[in-house]
Amino acid sequence: MFAKVIVDIAHAAVDRAFTYRIPEGLDVRPGHHVLLPFGQGDHIKEGFVLSVMDESGLKDESILKDVLACAEPYTVLLPEQLALAEWMQEAYHCLLVDALRAMIPAQLRGGRIHEKRERIVFLSDPEADFVSKSHIQKDVVDLLKKTGQPMSVGDIRAFLPNAGPAITALLKKGVLSESSFTVFRRPEYTTQADALPVLTAEQAAALNAVDELEPGQTALLYGVTGSGKTEVYLRCIEQCLQAGKGAIVLVPEIALTPQTVGRFSARFGDRIAVLHSRLSPGERFDEWRRIRLGKAPIVIGARSAIFAPVEELGLIIIDEEHESSYQSETAPRYHALDIARRRIRNCGGKLLLGSATPSLLSYYRALSGSYRLIELKHRVGGRPLPTVSIADMRAEFLNGNNGIFSSLLLSKLGACLKGGHQAMLFLNRRGYSTFVSCRACGYVLTCDNCDISMTYHKAQNAVRCHYCGAKKPLPPVCPNCGKPFIKYFGVGTEQVEEQIQSAFPGTSTLRMDADTVARRDAYDQILSAFGRGDAQILIGTQMIAKGHDFPNVTLVGVIAADTTLNFPDFRSAERTFQLLTQVSGRAGRDKEPGQVVMQTYAPDHPVLRFAASQDYAGFYQYEIAQRKKCLYPPFSLFIRLLLSGENEEELIQRGKDYAKALEADLRAALGAEGQGDLLLLLAAPAPIARIAGQNRYQILVKLLRTKRLPQALHAVYDFETSHREDGFLKIEINPQDMF
Ligand code: ADP
Ligand code: ZN
Repeated sequence: MFAKVIVDIAHAAVDRAFTYRIPEGLDVRPGHHVLLPFGQGDHIKEGFVLSVMDESGLKDESILKDVLACAEPYTVLLPEQLALAEWMQEAYHCLLVDALRAMIPAQLRGGRIHEKRERIVFLSDPEADFVSKSHIQKDVVDLLKKTGQPMSVGDIRAFLPNAGPAITALLKKGVLSESSFTVFRRPEYTTQADALPVLTAEQAAALNAVDELEPGQTALLYGVTGSGKTEVYLRCIEQCLQAGKGAIVLVPEIALTPQTVGRFSARFGDRIAVLHSRLSPGERFDEWRRIRLGKAPIVIGARSAIFAPVEELGLIIIDEEHESSYQSETAPRYHALDIARRRIRNCGGKLLLGSATPSLLSYYRALSGSYRLIELKHRVGGRPLPTVSIADMRAEFLNGNNGIFSSLLLSKLGACLKGGHQAMLFLNRRGYSTFVSCRACGYVLTCDNCDISMTYHKAQNAVRCHYCGAKKPLPPVCPNCGKPFIKYFGVGTEQVEEQIQSAFPGTSTLRMDADTVARRDAYDQILSAFGRGDAQILIGTQMIAKGHDFPNVTLVGVIAADTTLNFPDFRSAERTFQLLTQVSGRAGRDKEPGQVVMQTYAPDHPVLRFAASQDYAGFYQYEIAQRKKCLYPPFSLFIRLLLSGENEEELIQRGKDYAKALEADLRAALGAEGQGDLLLLLAAPAPIARIAGQNRYQILVKLLRTKRLPQALHAVYDFETSHREDGFLKIEINPQDMF
């Protein structure tokens, strides 16, 4: 027998199948992780078996080397995953080995982690009498007689702290025997009490609709915030389990809180496995093994969990499907949604996408019939959607209010606190740059390495760059004009907190932003503290927009609703609408109706109007018309090539040369009739022209979506491959963020 094997080395030169002989008696199957001699020196390398054959197909088999061993007794890749990896290699122009590596825990490679085994001891002859001068040996034997079962060494030590040497002696004498078994390291979660609710009519209809999906079909569950989407997910999974199949649930990393997991584990107990970035290596490896060995048919995790080795995959759910975190920014640069579509097509499963603010692309696909559209129009229990008011900050300013809060937000905050309720104040991440500038000359303090204004941090009286981390003390005088009028402007969470204290002295607040959640568990801790009622107001960036249900929150204030609207990015309207809807949805999750105040300098902007009236369909019609008019995605495809380099002049020259060469390649790929498909090719400095001392330059390509698109994409990928050696090129397809 022979095996086609891909060697676990990430280099284009060896990224192909090598044939090895399978020695007699070694059970090697496709998907096995094997050890083999490789190259001239026969160094031992790891590899993955792609296929197994009876014939090598070679004339001279004497040159073939033998597979040495399987690293694990089980196959680490399912046949379906091998097919998926081959598809990814083609679709994303990545190395096959990079695609395979995405599917297994990193620790598995290089034997960096092992199963954890627990030693147990038991009496060799439970009936035999035991006499000894050693008290402690006698105590150990008595303990084992009393419990009447094998015990782990750790458990015996819990009763008899000094039992270690005694156990060793008893084993030597043959009084005790020992054995061991595998234990799985598992993250801990508090399971929430969970009564099975009666489904609303809408939920029942949704469940039915999912049930009726054809194998390989996708549905979009568009449900307003609080409409009970999660309950629909839980029931769909239950149905899937009953059919003897497994499921994968993706949630954005940030929403993967202990509370979210608790809700799933309440329903499914040990049948769930959890995959996210905060697991220890041991936990990650063991959760993956529990999935692979069929102990956990349900996986809940962040983006990379889309590759989980669930056999008999019946259902994939992607919650908050519009989230940009489902796009991988490193090789292989996949979008989890595309991988999900491929997987369910390969194995005849179903895909359910859920959101209160579907991505424009998904809703477009739902309306055009390629997805089935399922709607939940009402909140559970007839709770009304929050009422949204818009506060015009221009009018406030004319009336002499130059504070952070509008008089409307202040009066509603006062009433909310007085009523014993909680409030959330939301600051858009990009809006809260507290830049430092000189009132006399207008000089703005920028980072020495980056083309970006630095952010003031009051606690340290220092300024920091959010792109490279550089930090320096606040200069006492302006570096430009030498006058002492250098001050910080703009609004940050710290400043909001301060103004709350002056408006409502003694109010307890919690703050959540990139600084306060730098520590691993701080995010969960702050949310739990707020959930327990430790604070009356939670102030935060978009981190507070999702993942938690706070029944006592009746008021949400958006400090500056329009800050993201004018970003040079085709998605800015979509992102703004999504954020505003998500944060508004935090208000009034329980009996008390919710209220939202959106403060803005552009109260008449259509996107804000639609967000305020929570009119997704209206927003969609408006925005899709804009996209169509300007030929933005989904009507076209944006490709960005990002270059960076230390020498600015050199970089600009290279950027221009590249643009010319790429245009020639693209035109050749598009052919005579396709020349009109190339809508735009722009070469210019990136919006942030310098980060961490590196200049940035971009080539922006806009292509019409036609039959020739695959050829054009190939040309772009080939361009990247042939220039990769320069080591500074990054390609983004429909980039999620264009800074
Ligand atoms: P969404 O995910 O759509 O925002 P959730 O699934 O979180 O909504 O549901 C909102 C709240 O309603 C949760 O507290 C949930 O426990 C509750 N809920 C969901 N379905 C029902 C139901 N059929 N009956 C009663 N309560 C429900
Ligand atoms: Zn910097």
